[in-house]
Amino acid sequence: MDISTLTIASARAAILERRTSAVALAESFYQKIEAADKQIGAFLTLTRERALAKAAQIDAIADKGDPLPPLAGVPIAIKDVMVMRGVRSTAGSKILSNFVAPYDCTAVARLEAAGAVVLGKTNCDEFAMGSSNENSGYYPVHNPRDLSRVPGGSSGGSAAAVAAGMSVAALGSDTGGSIRQPASFCGVVGLMPTYGRVSRYGLIAFASSLDHIGPLTKTVNDAAILLKHIAGRDPLDSTSAEVPVPDYEREIEKPVRGLRLGVPREYFGEGLDPEVRAAVEAAIQKMAQIGCEVVPISLPHTRYAVPTYYVIATAEASSNLARFDGVRYGYRSPQAGTLSEMYRRSRDQGFGAEAKRRIMLGTYVLSAGYYDAYYLKAQRVRALLTRDFEAAFQRVDAIVTPTSPTPAFKLGEKCDDPLAMYLADIYTVTADLAGVPGVSVPCGESKEGLPIGLQILGRHFDEGTVIRLAHVYERARSG
Ligand code: GLN
Repeated sequence: MDISTLTIASARAAILERRTSAVALAESFYQKIEAADKQIGAFLTLTRERALAKAAQIDAIADKGDPLPPLAGVPIAIKDVMVMRGVRSTAGSKILSNFVAPYDCTAVARLEAAGAVVLGKTNCDEFAMGSSNENSGYYPVHNPRDLSRVPGGSSGGSAAAVAAGMSVAALGSDTGGSIRQPASFCGVVGLMPTYGRVSRYGLIAFASSLDHIGPLTKTVNDAAILLKHIAGRDPLDSTSAEVPVPDYEREIEKPVRGLRLGVPREYFGEGLDPEVRAAVEAAIQKMAQIGCEVVPISLPHTRYAVPTYYVIATAEASSNLARFDGVRYGYRSPQAGTLSEMYRRSRDQGFGAEAKRRIMLGTYVLSAGYYDAYYLKAQRVRALLTRDFEAAFQRVDAIVTPTSPTPAFKLGEKCDDPLAMYLADIYTVTADLAGVPGVSVPCGESKEGLPIGLQILGRHFDEGTVIRLAHVYERARSG
């Protein structure tokens, strides 16, 4: 069996039909990781013992002939911002290098309850801050399609693990694009659900009003399967929504003919790579051939999205990261004589440059005298951006855009220019600010063979339409 092309659907079938055992499957994935991950760097921690115990449990159920749970034996990888009981959980930061979590993240617990086997924790930008994975406190991730390039970020390890066939699927988190952009750079599917659709309990917070957990997979169908299992109200997260969860595997099969697709002109302007533009325009044409109606629209406040995002995200990050002070958990500097020296040195030595930059920016925009000018104003602009989407969704059923203005760039290319890195988030931060769901689905390759992603955004809690459109597009493209 070629494990590198396994999907959730095919892995599940292989186990159900007993063509492989869950233990044998997990072992094959560990061999693959052993062989490939030295070059890629997608994993920070392997959870071999827990995975094999879980797999053995599945095999015991199968041996007895009892019915298997829906994700029985399916290997998945988890971005290291999600905690797992008894497992080192670093969020890609040195400040948490020795942190072993005392409880399980709800999304991970739900997948395990459905029979999934967690292979390990994936590399990411420190506290999910970044677009290239180069801000990891440990080591960068290399894009499996071209090792000299970044995999995107911040869920770069999750995207690379799936793209390289080191895991069947993965969970990532998206605060300003961190599921969709690495998916587009690595040539996989990345789905960000509506804010509140998936519990954030056990997600190490970056910017709480913007953080989302979602799947990275090889196919849209797989994303639908994972979403179905992680979605839904969780009493442990008061922002998780009391909204019924549809059966996304069924939703995906509904017809798309007659659906109206908005194409926002602000997403096709300056800075868009010509090859990305061509691939996305061809994809939109294909959707028209399938029977969708293409409607030109405008999201007029788009140009304010990046500054708005970098005010709100840093403000929330500065308060969320205040808890890492060397007292309760995480790294404590041994070279401190007084309490304040201990705080200062622990934070100085524990946080990397980008986390520090954001703590300073965020503290500044929240400080007395500047709060109204920056934070409050950003909140108002956020409302305008949300209204842009609400107005657009009166006229259209979904919105299609590029996921990122360029394909994967070279490692090191943007390291010295944080602003250039921030500006490239232009097409993804808008959906996080508005809280609407979105998917990135592969739609072509550049001349150099680098994947390009098509982004499809939908109405609040209408992931069904988003994945259904992505699914028909994926099928039309491959067939
Ligand atoms: N690239 C964005 C940032 O650096 C988004 C990160 C994310 O979604 N976690 O903040």
